[in-house]
Amino acid sequence: MDFFQKANCDRCGKKLTVRTMSMFNSDTICLDCKKKEEAHPDYVRARQAEREAVRRGDGNYSGIGLPPDLR
Ligand SMILES: [Zn+2]
Repeated sequence: MDFFQKANCDRCGKKLTVRTMSMFNSDTICLDCKKKEEAHPDYVRARQAEREAVRRGDGNYSGIGLPPDLR
């Protein structure tokens, strides 16, 4: 579904008031889930990989994948 049409967080199912994109995959997530991502040890690597994809002009980049412990 479209990013702005989503009513609930892809990860925890909570109603979205503020929405943001996951750094690990293409989920639309709430700020609580975003905070959990930012605290994850792989977050820096995910952010770096995303920057490189942007530099490559890779519009289909969908992240390094969600770490199993964040599911
Ligand atoms: Zn959430």
